[in-house]
Amino acid sequence: MAKVKFVRDIRDVAQLTEEERARLSTVQNKYSFLATDYYLNLINWDDPNDPLRRIVVPVEDEMVTWGRKDPSNEASNTVLPGVQHKYADTVVFLASENCGGQCRFCFRKRLFVDNAKRETALDLPQALDYVRAHPEVSSVLVTGGDALMLSTKLLTEIIEGLSEVEHVRAIRLGSKLPAYFPQRILDDANLLRLIERSNTKSQRIYVMSQFNHPRELTDIARASVDALLRSGAVVCNQTPIIQGVNDDVDTLEELIIELMACGAVPYYFFQCRPTIGNFPYLVPITRCYFLIEYAKYRVPGLARRVRYTMSHERGKIEVVGVTGKHIYVKYHRAKDFSREGKFLVFYRDDEAFWYDDLLAQRRDTSMIVTSSWQPHEADSGGTNLTVEQDSERTPDSTGHPGLIGQNSPSDY
Ligand code: SF4
Repeated sequence: MAKVKFVRDIRDVAQLTEEERARLSTVQNKYSFLATDYYLNLINWDDPNDPLRRIVVPVEDEMVTWGRKDPSNEASNTVLPGVQHKYADTVVFLASENCGGQCRFCFRKRLFVDNAKRETALDLPQALDYVRAHPEVSSVLVTGGDALMLSTKLLTEIIEGLSEVEHVRAIRLGSKLPAYFPQRILDDANLLRLIERSNTKSQRIYVMSQFNHPRELTDIARASVDALLRSGAVVCNQTPIIQGVNDDVDTLEELIIELMACGAVPYYFFQCRPTIGNFPYLVPITRCYFLIEYAKYRVPGLARRVRYTMSHERGKIEVVGVTGKHIYVKYHRAKDFSREGKFLVFYRDDEAFWYDDLLAQRRDTSMIVTSSWQPHEADSGGTNLTVEQDSERTPDSTGHPGLIGQNSPSDY
């Protein structure tokens, strides 16, 4: 198999014109550029708006001052260098500052902008001690960066270390290499053997792939997914909805169907996070919702398990409905247990890009809550679930319903 090369400087991308290379090198000076020659060869260079081009080739609008370095405040979940613990059952190892390509819409751009080593300085023995000391942890996600950019030697140490912890039932490897660099998987028999021997009846390796567009599912990419499946791994796919890449119904339908066909289960569609440099890639919440719903109407139930969520500081906020007037969301996962299961209704805002935009609908404007269930009540016997009645208040003098009782947006 031909050796894959990394291209680290936009000025070395021969398919761009000289003028484009000069113009875009300003962007790469701020937000680095990286791609494999394999991936660059998938791009249709005759089309300036080619979706795969948008995934890795910078655009000047990235320079728009907008967004935050750490939009989900991951710093607040960091318990040790390279270890995050946000949800009780899941620990994240930030083990790698390397990727097979630099996604222009990356939500962890800070790793490539700042000194990544600080955040990915995983001390493995210490990290394993932490997991051992937390029996509530059933799932560990190894990511970065890209987990499969780690050497197979280091991956072996991580996976074998986690395999020995009985309460860890799923070891997840976050990787876009099946799209950027599938040869890394296919050419490394030791990696596949490691995955094969680490899968047991009571503990499984999950590879969290990131295919953003159906054209990334080349024969060799599918072969890499197949190799992972044959080694016993479960492959789940997650992708943000990205402007100019997959923000149309036909593309999403094809992506869902092709993922289903190759065995990479469509798992999450994410709202693109408000990260620095991500301005040109955003799609508003209501538009994403309808694109996903229309695409799902066209695919079998098997492929409709994918959820549309925002990975917000407070938890995974799933968008479950949009009507002419309202946006309905639910805490699919909550960092703070008291928010588990909360179901919230906001006034429809077609300009909203992030949960914070909805939370900004204040008492004197339009935010309302209709119902919630509290899992701690289920914990106390399972028979005491209460669902609040629709609680839209009598409109205030501005004509808006306002919040229930004395709650403030910080409660949600
Ligand atoms: S693979 Fe993940 S971490 Fe790496 S650049 Fe893409 S989104 Fe960012």
